[in-house]
Amino acid sequence: MLNKKKKKNNNRLLSIFVILIYIPIIISVFVIFAMNKDLHYKEEINIEVGEKLPSLKDYLDTEDLNRVNKNITWEKDLKVDKDNKVYYSGTYDGYITFRDKKIKFKLNVIDEEAPTITGAKDIEIFINDEIDLLKDIKTTDNSLNKVKLNIEGEYSLEKEGVYNLKYVATDAAGNTASKDFTLTVKTKNTPKIAEIGTTSKGYKITKVNDIYYINGILIANKTYSLPSSYAPGGLLDIFTSNFSKMRDEALKEGINLEIISGYRSYADQAYIYNNYVLSDSKSNADTYSARAGHSEHQTGLAADINSLNTNFIYTKEGMWLNNNCHKYGFIIRYPEGKASVTGYMYEPWHIRYVGTPLASELYNNGNWISLEEYYGITSTYNY
Ligand SMILES: [Zn+2]
Repeated sequence: MLNKKKKKNNNRLLSIFVILIYIPIIISVFVIFAMNKDLHYKEEINIEVGEKLPSLKDYLDTEDLNRVNKNITWEKDLKVDKDNKVYYSGTYDGYITFRDKKIKFKLNVIDEEAPTITGAKDIEIFINDEIDLLKDIKTTDNSLNKVKLNIEGEYSLEKEGVYNLKYVATDAAGNTASKDFTLTVKTKNTPKIAEIGTTSKGYKITKVNDIYYINGILIANKTYSLPSSYAPGGLLDIFTSNFSKMRDEALKEGINLEIISGYRSYADQAYIYNNYVLSDSKSNADTYSARAGHSEHQTGLAADINSLNTNFIYTKEGMWLNNNCHKYGFIIRYPEGKASVTGYMYEPWHIRYVGTPLASELYNNGNWISLEEYYGITSTYNY
């Protein structure tokens, strides 16, 4: 009986002992388990181009945030702007180290917007012309990745033809945009050159594509006409650049020179001349207005300066022009008292570009020699 009681007491002590030993172990196991619990996180986040770079709190569950005190290390090629926004599309990896384990996050920067193309236009060239068809084309895109620009369609710069082509812009995400254009490759017309004789003073007259040249100087007067196809469309660069030089120099001396009339097309001249014929008479009109094709204003090398009044020569501008224009390659084309040779009355305002060597020869100390006298040619209508 006594023994039995003692044994029962021993058992109880053992149980208490076991419980006392195990509780901390169990608690420890729970604590360790809790500490070792894996992080809960999103493996992948999608943003659009131009949105903010996600931070750790976007990837991790809130309760896990304070278990990690590091920032995400991103791949080196992930670029952000000063506001932490991502403008380069693509897929990037970032990671944190958590208990010696590398945890990887993925970021997809998505771009669904197509690029735009500007500057596309139809192009006309001659066979074998050197041309960069992409030169004037600009592309823009929402992302900062390089946009690829290609030409789609077949063409040859060595073969005559009309090619329907397409500029295609492709951004890094594969979005594309396109613009149609036509490339026309033409054969070069070899100029039609004809020697048609010599002037009374022995200068060769050459006709190039129906345009008359004497000693390399283009001639347009009542005898020598320009074809309607000759249409530079405006004053030629050689005129305007030399005129600017002259105007700037004149301005330094207080002289204001302005072009009041420059290029006139064949059609414009026909319209003007025909109006004069109707309001005045043909014989009168012929003394001051040129028939279509016979006006120097069609050359793109002639212009009227400041005034269409003969008294212009008595103004300081008129005198300056008369005495200085040759230095810039211009001549007073219809000098005083030369109407019988030039076919036109005196026009102190009408200048023509011929280059300085010839202009200096014609200047003659202000008593201008006309082109007709110099070359020995006529200026009379033969119809
Ligand atoms: Zn004129």
